[in-house]
Amino acid sequence: MNSKLQFLGETGILLSSDLAKYPFLPESAEEIKRLDFKIEDVLEPNYASILDRAEKRIVEALTSNPPEVSYDPSADVNVEILSFPMAIVLASATASDYIKRRYALAEARRAYNLLKIESEEKVIEVAKRFGWRIRLASIEIGLEKFDFALHFIDYLKSATTLFHEKGWKLVNRLVVRGEVYLSKQDVARLLQEEIRRHIELKIDPKMRSLIPEGIIKRADSLKMMYAEKIKEEPLTIEGLASPDIEVNLFPPCVRGLYEAALSGRHIPHIGRFTLTSFLLNIGIDPNFIVDLFRKSADFNERMTRYQIEHIAGQRGSRTKYIPPKCDTLQTHGLCPGMDELCRRIKHPLTYYLRRKRRRVSGA
Ligand code: SF4
Repeated sequence: MNSKLQFLGETGILLSSDLAKYPFLPESAEEIKRLDFKIEDVLEPNYASILDRAEKRIVEALTSNPPEVSYDPSADVNVEILSFPMAIVLASATASDYIKRRYALAEARRAYNLLKIESEEKVIEVAKRFGWRIRLASIEIGLEKFDFALHFIDYLKSATTLFHEKGWKLVNRLVVRGEVYLSKQDVARLLQEEIRRHIELKIDPKMRSLIPEGIIKRADSLKMMYAEKIKEEPLTIEGLASPDIEVNLFPPCVRGLYEAALSGRHIPHIGRFTLTSFLLNIGIDPNFIVDLFRKSADFNERMTRYQIEHIAGQRGSRTKYIPPKCDTLQTHGLCPGMDELCRRIKHPLTYYLRRKRRRVSGA
């Protein structure tokens, strides 16, 4: 590699080897700026290893299950650090929403697994880069061991996507004087969410027009090579085996969730539950619902099928679930705003049945 990139310095408690582990940290970007490294530099033969590793990061995200970018402690630190922003450029150049979400998740999972075994001091340093008010707090209560205390506002902000799991709700946490007590594993999991969101925001398909031709070509061939995995074509209602489904009769909340699933956008657990139970209750085939979630970045067919069958009452307690009521959906921020019919009902299923009845009677 060109000698210009051989002098990444240390940044306080974080060493350059840490930046190789956590290349999304602002110190990495500062170092790259300091080195005056330009995107087009990567097309020079001397920097081929950076572009190759950047591409490998994305390929690993697309091919591993669950998605995770690899970590090799013996890898060249400079290549590791520089290949991260290059992977962001490459992912942006693909202009693929699927690649964006999958790559962000794979990098975030890598960071989670590294943070779980990281020293407490370094975990704090990483957390502080996201503006967290966090401190060491080593205490044991019964069988539970807590390593950190996090300001409850920062906890609430970072845990929003995890609230579907009972254990993450604030009421189930040890909170003392406005701080939430957490284990290292919990902090790593919360940081995973922060990192995923941070990387997703960095990947911008609008950048494509500004990216050098040589990188666009790499991005296009990557997309072509993994077209099967990417499944870019949107699922359409006509293409699926449930002719009974009438999306135009769905209430606004379910329509929003349905469209999010079709385009593979992230849906919180309660949203997935609402959509699944709604579709099952209007008689949609579970196989159709499995296909609906296929574009999700963390899609796992076995797990998805299990959950759908559980909601359908075919497993576990054998209870067939119905979607939550409107007031519950409103509490969880899943009601996008009421239309006229919404004001007269209290449950999304009632909305659908009324619209359907009205259509059948021609009213
Ligand atoms: S009022 Fe109820 S049915 Fe209407 S959009 Fe909101 S949650 Fe859905």
